[in-house]
Formats: sequence, C-alpha cells, structure tokens
Amino acid sequence: MWSEIIRLINEKQRFILTAHTNPDLDALGSELALDEYLRSLGKEVTILNSDSAPRLLRFVDPDRRLRTFSPDRDQGKIDRAQVIFVLDASGGWERVGRVGEVLAARANRSGKEVEVVCIDHHANPVGFADVAVVNSDAAATAELIFDLITQAGGALTPSIARWLYLAILTDTGSFRFPNTNLQTHRIAARLIEAGADPMQLYKQVYEQYPLGLVRLKGHVLNSLQAGAGGRMVWSALDQETLKAYGATPADLDGFPGLGMQIGGVRVSLLCVELPRGRVKVSLRSDGSLTVNGLAEKLGGGGHPSAAGATVEGDLAQVTAQLVAEIEALLKSF
Ligand code: 5GP
Ligand code: MN
Repeated sequence: MWSEIIRLINEKQRFILTAHTNPDLDALGSELALDEYLRSLGKEVTILNSDSAPRLLRFVDPDRRLRTFSPDRDQGKIDRAQVIFVLDASGGWERVGRVGEVLAARANRSGKEVEVVCIDHHANPVGFADVAVVNSDAAATAELIFDLITQAGGALTPSIARWLYLAILTDTGSFRFPNTNLQTHRIAARLIEAGADPMQLYKQVYEQYPLGLVRLKGHVLNSLQAGAGGRMVWSALDQETLKAYGATPADLDGFPGLGMQIGGVRVSLLCVELPRGRVKVSLRSDGSLTVNGLAEKLGGGGHPSAAGATVEGDLAQVTAQLVAEIEALLKSF
C-alpha cells in the first residue's frame, strides 16, 4: 500500500504538506508528524494551510512549522515543489481552500513534475491525486501517517508520537466514537511507548479552555431543543452570543456532540452563524444512521456519524430546514 509513496519520499527532495480548511488536530498533527519525519531524511518541507491553527491548538506548533498560505511569499515554494501531500482532505482541492486552488493550478500545468499524494480516512473518490491511500477503517488520518512512517522504517520520536496521539485522541472523541477499533488502541499503545503521555495530552486539549468557552458550553446545553420524540436535538448559536462569551466558531470543537449525552438521541445538530450570511452546520449521529449524506447534499461531507458543511443563509432558516430534513431522515431509518 505504501510502496509508491515511500518511493516518492526516497527519490524527491522538495515537499509541500497541506490539509483541509479550518484544520483540526488530525490535520495539524498528521502534517507536523510527517514534516518532522521527512526533515529527518534531509528533505525540504513546507506546511501550507489555507487557515491558521485555531488559538486553542497553537500549542502543537512550538517551532512554528505551520504556515498560513500567503500568495506572494509562497508561490515560489509551490512552483518548485516535487511532491504535494494532501492530508485529511480527500474531498478535493476545494476542501483544501484557497491554497488548494493554487496547488491545483500547479499540479495541472506541470504534467509529471509534481506528484500529488492524498492520505485520508474520509471515504471519498480521489480523482485529483496521482497516488492515494484512503482508508475509512482508520479512525484518523494520523493512523495512516503512523503506518507510513513505521512501514518506511522511520523512528517514532517523542514529538511525532505526541502529534499522532493528539490527532487520534481528538478524532475519536477520546476513543469513544464508532471509528475507534482494536487497531486504534494498538497504535495508541505504540505511541504511548514512544513517549506520548495520555494524561498530559488530554489536559492540554480538554482542560485549558478560557472560562467564557466553558460557560458558552453551558449556554448551548441550556438551549438544546428536542424533536422527533426525543430522537434528535439541536441548537443554534448566533454571532452575538459567540461574541458575548468571547468565542469564535473555530473554538467550538466538541460542541456539536453535546446533545449525544442524552439517552435516546440519535442525531444532534449544531448550527453556528458565521460572518457574511453563512452558517456552519455540524451533524452527529449515534451510529444507527448516517449523516454524511445530508452534509454532502449541502456541499459538505464527513463520516457516517460526524459530518458538516458550510451553507449560505439565515441562521434560523437553515436550522429549521435541517430540523425538518433530519426528521425525514429519522423516518427512513
Ligand atoms: P465538524 O462538524 O466538527 O466541523 O466536522 C465533522 C466532520 O465533518 C469532520 O470529519 C469534517 O472533516 C467533516 N466536515 C465538516 N465540514 C465539512 C465541509 O465543509 N466539507 C467536508 N467535505 N467535510 C466537512
Ligand atoms: Mn480526520
């Protein structure tokens, strides 16, 4: 599975790593781990994302390896790259955002000068890549990066172990989502052996929130609405409320699943108002039905039990529309 990618790593010198917009810890941890591994081989590596890391995740990047794409500064690097790794974003260049457009243009005009490699655990057809490893049995892209580094004979340094562990920890909702399996725990054990400290890493992600954000969680819990005889819950957050709690949409990791704590709930929906008349939609399910189909209909995507999209429209209207769609979905499952 990895031989083609390992060949590219051995033969080429200049690499760009990228991931999806609004990167999460799976995207960032996978990039940083692969970056360190490639640099240990003497390769020239640049991580280029369309969006910067959310403020609560900046701790992962003490050496400031992550770069937010800036056209003037980065075009040269893009023109000279020999391999582009697209991580956690098999949805296509669009999923990579504005740097995706520029990388796509380079890939399309260069013929075979640049190879595009996609590694992801979202089940998408990957038309845009020359080489793809897409495995939806993996709980996180970081599991696949673990595979790649170990298959290539690379060392699991303590920092690589921490990045991969953080990615798996968060993408599995602390080892509880339906994607968590035996292999996930086996890999986690290897990462702990290699230097990842579970308690310290958990604290770094889940016990360093500003007070306002924890209070906002209380607000969301208080504003949960129930429907479909208790089988669905939803909540909508407007810009004004976010501001009042000193929060931004990027801070809300974990919020969409809050309603899943309730017995009998099969689907949880969170709609968050974004600037310029857009709404971020997040869907979670208990595994008894799939929600990524609905997200795809809205131009987004995701996993069977965790999916999302960003749509144009008014917060109340988008929310009401989705509540109706989920009610219909519940009837069909
Ligand atoms: P969240 O609701 O936490 O933003 O995202 C949940 C899942 O849905 C993640 O796996 C994420 O990759 C996916 N997802 C969220 N928003 C989008 C989107 O706009 N496009 C696609 N393709 N996937 C998304
Ligand atoms: Mn992921």
